[in-house]
Amino acid sequence: MQSTLVLIKPDGVKRQLTGAILARIEAKGYVVTDLRLVQPDRARLEEHYDEHRGKPFFEPLVEFMLSGPSVAIRLEGDRVIEGFRTLAGTTDPTTAAPGTIRGDFGRDWGLKVQQNLVHGSDSEESAARELALWFD
Ligand code: ADP
Ligand code: MG
Repeated sequence: MQSTLVLIKPDGVKRQLTGAILARIEAKGYVVTDLRLVQPDRARLEEHYDEHRGKPFFEPLVEFMLSGPSVAIRLEGDRVIEGFRTLAGTTDPTTAAPGTIRGDFGRDWGLKVQQNLVHGSDSEESAARELALWFD
């Protein structure tokens, strides 16, 4: 069994897609073992996105993540790290495959790349680091 950190980002919470996104996660068979609505501060977000520090989208991304609460979820399941990222779809919602969270709900052409509804850890190392950051 693996655990991963999923965030429903501020756009997903504002658009009232939390239930729809959780329904897909649960339909897949992943188990929610912790969940909370969080308004993170800048320090936590900069730490969360540490790998992207210095990139042109870093500051707009942090600002966007500060724009409202996110739902933080600890998910457990067989190969859930890769599996959730498959469920989420590719980073840019404009071209994410239909059937994925980003592909199905992120299709408004006015949306920016950072407004892609969800985050999922990308490795066991990231998952451990991010779960500690958001839950401990
Ligand atoms: P993912 O969330 O799919 O793992 P990345 O780790 O590459 O994607 O990027 C982190 C987040 O930064 C993305 O989910 C998205 O919100 C934002 N982002 C990535 N690339 C861009 C970009 N070119 N312009 C604006 N925002 C971006
Ligand atoms: Mg990433």
